[in-house]
Amino acid sequence: MKRILAVAGLTLGLAACGNPDAPSAPETPPAPVEEAAAPSAGANGTINVYSARHYDSDKAMYAAFEAETGIRVNVRESGAPELLETMKAEGARSPADVIIASDAGALYRFQEAGFTQGVSSEKLSAAIPEQLREKDGHWFGLTKRYRIIVYDPQVVSADEVDTYADLADPSLRGEICVRSSTNIYNLSLMGEFIGRNGPEASETWAKGVVANFARQPQGGDTAQIEAVAAGECAVALVNHYYWVRLANGTPEERLKTAKTQLSFPDQNGNGTHVNVVAAAVAANAPSKDLAVQFIEYLATARGQELLTTETKDVPVVAGAALPAGLEQISGFKESDFPLSELGTHQAEAQAIFDRAGWN
Ligand code: FE
Repeated sequence: MKRILAVAGLTLGLAACGNPDAPSAPETPPAPVEEAAAPSAGANGTINVYSARHYDSDKAMYAAFEAETGIRVNVRESGAPELLETMKAEGARSPADVIIASDAGALYRFQEAGFTQGVSSEKLSAAIPEQLREKDGHWFGLTKRYRIIVYDPQVVSADEVDTYADLADPSLRGEICVRSSTNIYNLSLMGEFIGRNGPEASETWAKGVVANFARQPQGGDTAQIEAVAAGECAVALVNHYYWVRLANGTPEERLKTAKTQLSFPDQNGNGTHVNVVAAAVAANAPSKDLAVQFIEYLATARGQELLTTETKDVPVVAGAALPAGLEQISGFKESDFPLSELGTHQAEAQAIFDRAGWN
């Protein structure tokens, strides 16, 4: 079963996204620890948010929270690996209250390093499905994303790409474009495979996919979609929102997606791989209660709207409005694999990719 997203003929003002497609390997040295620039305090306090997101729409989100609560939000934006290094350097003196990052596997790294704390919040427990949050409250999934297949219907048929297993089938020799295995999205997908199928079957799959590569992994998810549109390959594995943003982008971008179709894999099996943008309360949060209040705000209908309208992520809270461009995305089968488990398989996932030659 396939779901083709409606290509809304609207220009949906794409958020300027600093570098969403950057590989997750630490490619830049850690940001130096800066002296806290005497922030102006809010009437009801201040929180420091360390965010791996880089969206203009997030500025509006912080502003809305400030306006509603009188709590001032100071934001440090950087890549997740850099924020991790920053927190290592800061140690127990870290001013971070909230950590926001994309992918449960990224939050796992903060948790593993001891930089998060368990939080119990009735509001968050009620609003967020259990498999989308860490079992002890170390992080909470706030928006969903799906790792899907984008393909050229003139080259491959829908039934050739309706499962993740298909990507390893010899019929797709020379047709697959995908980003580096060091990227957290691929590590988390592999984490689910390992959890469900065990490491041996997962390695066999990875080797099959590598044998089908059209080229060595390069670029981010958007680059893979563009490569399909350009005829460089016929099949790409990407997060859904990159395609949706192009499909709602400039005329040139829309021309690219018009050549492609989407497959939400494993509809007759475990369902399509789900991941999250998630938030955690920092281990040494100076303003823990306000940090919890902020995350609870993001799990309201208004917070969900602010998080997803431009990014094209999918809300996790029941009743929250779906962003324009995603109208037909609901109704397919999503994997219910507990996201807490993705991180526990992360090191093994990387080892499997390395052995398979998935650079
Ligand atoms: Fe992304």
